[in-house]
Amino acid sequence: MTTDLPGTVVSTPTLTVGDIACRVISDGQAAYEPSFLFANVDSETLGPTLDGRLDDQGNLSTPYHCLLLQTPTATVLIDTGLGRLAAVAGAPAGHLLNSLASAGFSADDIDVVVLSHAHPDHIGGLSQDGELTFPRARHIMSRTEWDFWTDEDTLARLPEMLAAPARALLPPLLEADVLDLAEGETEILRGVELIPAPGHTPGHCVVRIGSGSSGVTFLADAVLDELQFRHPGWVSAVDFSAEETVRTRKRLLCNAATDGSLVLAYHMSTTGTVEQSSGSFRLLPRESRQ
Ligand SMILES: [Zn+2]
Repeated sequence: MTTDLPGTVVSTPTLTVGDIACRVISDGQAAYEPSFLFANVDSETLGPTLDGRLDDQGNLSTPYHCLLLQTPTATVLIDTGLGRLAAVAGAPAGHLLNSLASAGFSADDIDVVVLSHAHPDHIGGLSQDGELTFPRARHIMSRTEWDFWTDEDTLARLPEMLAAPARALLPPLLEADVLDLAEGETEILRGVELIPAPGHTPGHCVVRIGSGSSGVTFLADAVLDELQFRHPGWVSAVDFSAEETVRTRKRLLCNAATDGSLVLAYHMSTTGTVEQSSGSFRLLPRESRQ
């Protein structure tokens, strides 16, 4: 594991699922107020659970972890990081292309871009200087998610920090004719499935690689922090539907606990298996990447 930019892990162990190699590619990280990430938890309850994890400002640093898949037929990137929006947000992120280069890949190597959902930290890297970042790639996302984030009446009701990136970054995919919209569970390539996991956003999806105990589920933002295994009812200020977020999270973690598959997530540093006990879960780390 090596680091060239502050906070940027540029080379990570590869996980192999059948004939698919999975590699976490860091876009960087960002610090959030705990009350934003765990919006329905009072500070007396939350405080002790974050012991030793907060920075000098009292914020929690959260990684941005895209996933690169090398299948026998294609190179697939899941989510694109914060891109140029990092400068606006003042976050040490937007390093995806550097991290890809350090792992031996260029933007032109990407055949397929999969978008788990359309929040800025996942679509920010889609284009830069008015040009698509991955011009050779087909771009795949849920039709439900696309419809939500391209509807001006909906966007007008959302905070500008969420609406503006969607307005700027999504329509060019349609104009360039590189967009494929998925409905329901969709096989992207053999052994790689996009699976609806609504709640965090209306069309939020996770990605399933392989199956059974040898499979891996990229949970995207269905889990935002390792604490949500022990406390699956804790939701953030940006979970679109708190109720559906929790229902989906429990379903995904329950499935992983049952079939023994590995889980990882965009904002987690840990990959592991899941254990279930009386309405709560435990993440048993396979490895720690930070
Ligand atoms: Zn996110």
